[in-house]
Amino acid sequence: MRYSEMFLPTTKETPSDAEIASHQLMLRAGMIRKLAGGIYAYLPLGYRVIRKVENIVREEMNRAGAQEVFMPAVQPAELWMESGRWDMYGKELLRVRDRHNRDYCIGPTHEEVITALVRDEIQTYRQLPRNLYQIQTKFRDEIRPRFGIMRSREFGMKDAYSFDADEESAEESYRKMFDAYTRIFTRCGLSFRPVEADSGNIGGSFSHEFMVTADSGEDAMVHCTSCDYAANLEKAEISRPEEKAGHATEYPPMAEVHTPDVRTIEEVCAFLDVAPRDVVKTMIFTCDGEPVAVLVRGNEDINEAKLRNYLGCDSLELAMDDTILEVTGSPRGFAGPMGIKSRIIADYSLMNMKNFVVGANREDHHIKNCNIGRDFEIKDYADLRIVREGDVCPRCGKELRIVRGIEVGHVFKLGVKYSKAMNATFLDRDGKEKYMIMGCYGIGIGRTAAACIEQSHDEDGIIWPMAIAPFQVIITPVNINDENLSKIAEELYNGLVADGIEVILDDRNERPGVKFKDADLIGIPIRVTVGAKSLAEGKVEVRFRKPGEVEKIPLEEVRGFITKTIMDQLSIS
Ligand code: ATP
Ligand code: MG
Repeated sequence: MRYSEMFLPTTKETPSDAEIASHQLMLRAGMIRKLAGGIYAYLPLGYRVIRKVENIVREEMNRAGAQEVFMPAVQPAELWMESGRWDMYGKELLRVRDRHNRDYCIGPTHEEVITALVRDEIQTYRQLPRNLYQIQTKFRDEIRPRFGIMRSREFGMKDAYSFDADEESAEESYRKMFDAYTRIFTRCGLSFRPVEADSGNIGGSFSHEFMVTADSGEDAMVHCTSCDYAANLEKAEISRPEEKAGHATEYPPMAEVHTPDVRTIEEVCAFLDVAPRDVVKTMIFTCDGEPVAVLVRGNEDINEAKLRNYLGCDSLELAMDDTILEVTGSPRGFAGPMGIKSRIIADYSLMNMKNFVVGANREDHHIKNCNIGRDFEIKDYADLRIVREGDVCPRCGKELRIVRGIEVGHVFKLGVKYSKAMNATFLDRDGKEKYMIMGCYGIGIGRTAAACIEQSHDEDGIIWPMAIAPFQVIITPVNINDENLSKIAEELYNGLVADGIEVILDDRNERPGVKFKDADLIGIPIRVTVGAKSLAEGKVEVRFRKPGEVEKIPLEEVRGFITKTIMDQLSIS
């Protein structure tokens, strides 16, 4: 491609509404333009990158035995009513109505459509397993679209769905996708980590998120400093501590204290001159309509996902004031375990606490010097709190660390959730009618490209890995008015194009400085500078965007050198 003919509007200024590097650089490098909030157009440079990511994804999905389909973006409401998600999905679902007053949505995901498709076509175990995927546009009316295409409303996703006859086969399908994802993100040049993710009521560790490590990431993930345990913060486990034998009888007796208007942990600590770790927080939740008191050490926080899974409930929210009054007999701020009229569950952090403070279930009162076993009992201990930096690994006992990441992919074992709701059955070899066991597997195409920029850029611009670079080489004749230079640059360009290399010839009548700046900004991995000085020695300069090194290569060898370099960089073992 000749630069002079390209639709490639680069800018020097950093757009003020772009907060993170990938968003800023995609705008500056003329890759994307905003149409409306969370809705973007890809310009030629950006779309080339998208196509490259898609092709890597496609190749690896095909290699893993998945077959490509293409489903409609517009989906009838009836299907979503069958699965129960028409009401459950909430405002992220963009609903539309046609001229006949029929309801539809613009698909945020395709479990319903694929399940309906497969249940009508697959009848027996002989037709299983199957894995179908598509690369298609989704719409989610995100509450806070931001970071450009990283969290947009309209975005491209690869979504795959597996259908199996039994658990063993379903696990095999899952493993194949897990391996395919590992290859995909490796080929995209990303540094990533699969982390265990919350799989809701389905249980087990059958959900992994593929996280690209980046400080700008919206997600927090926990990993062990010693073994390979990694989980997202929602899922990260804490092991049950060993119970130490106590001597509670020797401790001072508990005592009620008057604590006027002292409600929060901070206020209690200041008033009684104790540390948060010596106070028990009693939080009242409403779980499917029933009140539950949840106890956690004052310096820790409840992880609602863990709580929800432990209780196995559909709806969970902090209780309203009237519920609190009903179960504790006092207004908000003074709840405690003693005499409370609800089920009590305690986080492991309460084990081994001694002489602590709790609410008295009486307005303006707390109780100090409380001890479990002596003053009240806890029957129900569970892992309910959020992991903190420095907690111990549930697998090996070494220290855990928390880092930030971007979720680029998600593999999920669905079980029979959709096949049951939508009656997708098959006839098994034992003659029985059974539900198909499903898995779903997503990759954000644009988010993957953006995550790559987050990880790979410098103050001059993007540094594309060869595999997803929009072009592999840019040839820069330093002065296009020099006929000899232009001719040599042109010959090299034609030669490389003939070799199947993706090349830009920067034939603009600009100063070399301007050309170099643009080449760095758009992040082309290899720049060949054709200048009079090197040519006097029969050479051209080959500069690698990363790490910025320059090599002088004899003109007659440069084609072979570039082709080989590119092939080397594209191959993964
Ligand atoms: P998130 O927690 O970031 O909202 P999600 O759990 O809703 O993600 P999935 O439903 O698992 O995401 O979708 C599969 C993949 O689609 C994600 O791993 C991500 O790469 C991509 N994705 C999801 N939402 C967006 C979005 N708003 N913009 C761009 N890509 C997205
Ligand atoms: Mg989401």
